[in-house]
Amino acid sequence: MPLDAEIIVVGAGPAGSATAFFLAQAGHQVLLLDRADFPRDKTCGDGLSPRALRVLGLMGVLPAVEAAGMPIETLRLFSPNGESVGAPILGPDNQPTRARVLPRYRLDDIIRCGALEGGARFRHGAVSALMQEDGRFTGVTVDGVNLRAQAVVVATGASSALLERAGLTRGAGDLGRAARAYFEGLQPLPREVAFHFDSVPLPGYGWIFPTSPTSANIGAGYFVKAGRVAPQASPQHAMREFLKNRHVVDVIGRHEPADSPKGYPLRTDFLTARLAAPGLYMVGEAAGLVNPLTGEGIDFALESGELAAELIATDLRFGRAPIDSAAVFARGLRARFGAFFAGIGWVRDLYFQPWVLNRFVRAAQKHDELKLLLLQIALGNTDPRRALRPGPLLRLALG
Ligand SMILES: Cc1cc2nc3c(=O)[nH]c(=O)nc-3n(C[C@H](O)[C@H](O)[C@H](O)COP(=O)(O)OP(=O)(O)OC[C@H]3O[C@@H](n4cnc5c(N)ncnc54)[C@H](O)[C@@H]3O)c2cc1C
Repeated sequence: MPLDAEIIVVGAGPAGSATAFFLAQAGHQVLLLDRADFPRDKTCGDGLSPRALRVLGLMGVLPAVEAAGMPIETLRLFSPNGESVGAPILGPDNQPTRARVLPRYRLDDIIRCGALEGGARFRHGAVSALMQEDGRFTGVTVDGVNLRAQAVVVATGASSALLERAGLTRGAGDLGRAARAYFEGLQPLPREVAFHFDSVPLPGYGWIFPTSPTSANIGAGYFVKAGRVAPQASPQHAMREFLKNRHVVDVIGRHEPADSPKGYPLRTDFLTARLAAPGLYMVGEAAGLVNPLTGEGIDFALESGELAAELIATDLRFGRAPIDSAAVFARGLRARFGAFFAGIGWVRDLYFQPWVLNRFVRAAQKHDELKLLLLQIALGNTDPRRALRPGPLLRLALG
């Protein structure tokens, strides 16, 4: 049977578009599918870490992102008792750099267009099934039509219906739930993102991310371990409570949200997620790649797309058996992200308690290295297990 593409990528969010871009750049014929018409919205905090910006640079879309996004120079943490500490945004080289905030309505279309510029084709359509023959995945059914490919990449984000229908999810793993709203016409905002641990359920946080000098994405969310009960009925409820926080009131005044608040889940279950099957590869949030400390997933989506493209391109070049390719791919993803996810889970369990956060913020006001260590861990720039060493723990204990 003739192929409709060498590789079909399902989902044109950051993970799918990055995978499609890097595969197309490697000379492969890629078909990128999405059920949404672009530009489309995605419920998010819209924060872009320096790691995300690095991959966007490789894709050639950084100038567009920088032109449209709000530059961010500092990050501020508020402890449950309302004290705060600020830190400069640092890159993996420990040098000051910038993050950005750019609403996903704009961002995702910029990235998708980057993939098309890179040589991928795009088709609008909802994928209802993954096709299988002789124990391997061979294509997708989109709007009732079967499309065949050598490899299928699933980049469907936290929406797991497609994976469930194919028997590829192992039940509800660790997840997060968060909700956000946009506020406009605000008093001038600093180039700063604020993370609040006051007036939100823990483990979780509220955020104020400026999308321009006079507008902001404000939201709140919490994490739920597999099998545990969520600390609140809904993320919208957590967000409504957070909007009463005095710092938030200072920022929004009497402004109402510019649109209705929206909630969405986050999959943080990378350590237990199924990552591949013969002929099939998961990337981004479809692989559970969301930071369980910060809820950031765009950087992991882009990085896993870059890595996945490299692994898949190598498979296609060497013509490995599909079952071996799946194993190599899963090992590659785990080798890159596994230690980080295991470590960051421990850091969250230890640090995300009210008294620990209160002590941490107080200690971080005095000890720069403690402040910068947690910042680098949160940004995914360093091994999270460094926060569990005797030095940081002693500083924390002494407050
Ligand atoms: C409230 C909230 C705040 C967040 N804040 C941040 C933040 O500030 N910074 C950050 O880095 N991360 C944040 N995240 C996480 C981030 O939004 C995700 O991790 C990221 O979008 C994952 O990218 P992705 O490409 O894997 O999936 P997505 O961006 O979700 O894209 C998946 C795509 O697949 C398509 N799709 C799904 N099913 C099908 C189908 N059957 N057929 C065809 N197409 C399909 C969808 O239409 C969509 O376009 C937040 C998440 C939430 C919920």
